[in-house]
Amino acid sequence: MSDDKSTPGGADTKPSNFLRQIVERDLAQGTYATRRFGGSPGDAAHHAAGLPDPARIRTRFPPEPNGYLHIGHAKSICLNFGLARDYAGACHLRFDDTNPEKEEQEYVDAILDAVKWLGFDWTSQGTEHLYHASNYFDFMYRAAEALIGADLAYVDEQTAEEMRANRGDFGHPGVDSPFRHRSPAENLARFREMRDGGHPDGSMVLRAKIDMASPNINLRDPAIYRIRRATHHNTGDTWCIYPMYTFAHPIEDALENITHSICTLEFEDQRPFYDWLLDHLCTLGLLAQPRPHQYEFARLNLTYIVTSKRKLRQLVADGHVSGWDDPRLPTIVGLRRRGYTPESLQLLAERSGVSKAGGWLDYSSLEIALRDDLDPKAARACVVLDPLKLKLTNFAEVFGSDDFADACHAPVHPGHPERGQRDFVLTRELWIEREDFLEVPTKGYHRLYPGNKARLKYGHIIECTGCEKDDAGNITAVLATIVPDTKSGTPGADAVKVKGVITWVSATTGLPAEVRLFDRLFTVPQPDAGGTDFLTVINPNSLKVVQAWVEPSLATARPDDKFQFERHGYFVADRHDHQPGRLVFNRTTTLKDTWAAK
Ligand code: ATP
Ligand code: MG
Repeated sequence: MSDDKSTPGGADTKPSNFLRQIVERDLAQGTYATRRFGGSPGDAAHHAAGLPDPARIRTRFPPEPNGYLHIGHAKSICLNFGLARDYAGACHLRFDDTNPEKEEQEYVDAILDAVKWLGFDWTSQGTEHLYHASNYFDFMYRAAEALIGADLAYVDEQTAEEMRANRGDFGHPGVDSPFRHRSPAENLARFREMRDGGHPDGSMVLRAKIDMASPNINLRDPAIYRIRRATHHNTGDTWCIYPMYTFAHPIEDALENITHSICTLEFEDQRPFYDWLLDHLCTLGLLAQPRPHQYEFARLNLTYIVTSKRKLRQLVADGHVSGWDDPRLPTIVGLRRRGYTPESLQLLAERSGVSKAGGWLDYSSLEIALRDDLDPKAARACVVLDPLKLKLTNFAEVFGSDDFADACHAPVHPGHPERGQRDFVLTRELWIEREDFLEVPTKGYHRLYPGNKARLKYGHIIECTGCEKDDAGNITAVLATIVPDTKSGTPGADAVKVKGVITWVSATTGLPAEVRLFDRLFTVPQPDAGGTDFLTVINPNSLKVVQAWVEPSLATARPDDKFQFERHGYFVADRHDHQPGRLVFNRTTTLKDTWAAK
């Protein structure tokens, strides 16, 4: 990671945000200083028997393993693991698998990979903090019984429609259920019948007993357990009742000794219930104190992409893209295959800040972060993406033979001479970009046209003399002569002044490569905003594959190697299809400045 230097206390080198301020305040006030940690998740007694918690704070990243992670999750990962790293804490990776449907090992594996690849680790001071919420079902059940015993929960047998109607709305208080005033003993008996399979799915639920007139509808006796006969990937058929997310999540945090539970703004209205539940379970002696607190921040939205697992799944399932790792998708596997680096995603997460105000970040922020990361690192190379032959007609006169190969050199990286040189050769026939020749120049055009001189980058100056055409009038080759003694890096290099510089690859030693050029996947900046059906605004031209010629140094490129192709942008050797003898590159992004030569 780029900023491993940050140590506890070194956090002040980072831009502050309201979450950092909350953490710093809690550390200064010793809010969590008295906590003990039992070495693993557990109830109040388990933690009380442990040592003082070695982690000063605990955060968590709690994905539901029902799809591949995307750039929004990357932000949450960087935030939660970043806070733990910067404040001598621990961040737990928790699979939120309390919902029995839709969970697959493929997604679990992909999430583990994504977190590691982003540069984070759920092991802290020798303890692995990788957890599954479904391991807490026993405790959750016990907590539910305790609430019933304290007359804080009841079994409601109203139909779903009755419950909805009796909940009221913003302008109207709710109406108490006729089942609300049953005794704890009666509720306990009913709840155990629910657990033991005595009632059909949907026939009754357990509800918290709070306030049917609360202005916050989430506090109008929310459901906390439902009957659902479904086989769970971890607990099998042990349970036919499952906790609701709003009940499960605070408990998961508390069992794990989380201090700062950070989520996105949609959960702001749930916070009063989070507090209600944990306060009661602490009072009842079930959960350790001080308990976790929830804080909300605005989700990351980037233009020209969608970040919802459901929508991404649909793009994959309907074949709009080649798979979860299609380089046009904002999934972490897609971004990785596209050539984005962990550091660039960390940079984006950092720069996008943490705030309470939602908004859209321009897609170009991602590209800027990548350029900032790769410009000082990526090896350079020359390639021609839209090849046109260039014939140097006086080659034998200058070099003694048409078969001569004139050695040329270029730095691997212009800012790092210690990284050495790339060696390639100038030969009689070269590939140049089709756009670098015009029969009739436009105003301000300085590249090749009959009578004009331009420099072959790292080589000689040449003078264009004309072109060859096929019977249909298409240009098939450009003709030029070498201006002797003007080679780059020799004393005569500056004797002739030219304005245009041409990139090129030898037609004799250059290698063929497949290059994939991507455009945005959607034609509008907010593909799923305001009721737009994102499937109707897919860009039909988001992928263009070209047959390019590349300099010989790229023969040794390995999958995932990243380069700056001079003038064209940042590219990566495709992690699936690139192999020795079959070179395949993806364009991650173009260069910031459009090609300077005119
Ligand atoms: P999706 O709608 O794509 O399924 P989710 O929020 O339901 O996303 P989870 O697996 O439940 O997905 O999310 C794990 C964590 O990632 C949560 O803490 C959630 O708040 C966070 N997260 C998800 N999307 C974003 C986003 N766009 N920006 C910031 N954090 C996000
Ligand atoms: Mg979700």
